[in-house]
Amino acid sequence: MACISCGRASPKHAKFPCPECGAPVERCADCRKNENKYKCQKCGFQGP
Ligand SMILES: [Zn+2]
Ligand SMILES: [Zn+2]
Repeated sequence: MACISCGRASPKHAKFPCPECGAPVERCADCRKNENKYKCQKCGFQGP
């Protein structure tokens, strides 16, 4: 399980469905806090 934004494996992950396609997106707590961009691997949706 790796963060979709920074690619690091982190024990603290937030998991949520992509708003576009519903595919699971995982981000670590740091990226969530810093509002790093993420890109859905399935549909390419980018969001904060
Ligand atoms: Zn991260
Ligand atoms: Zn998506």
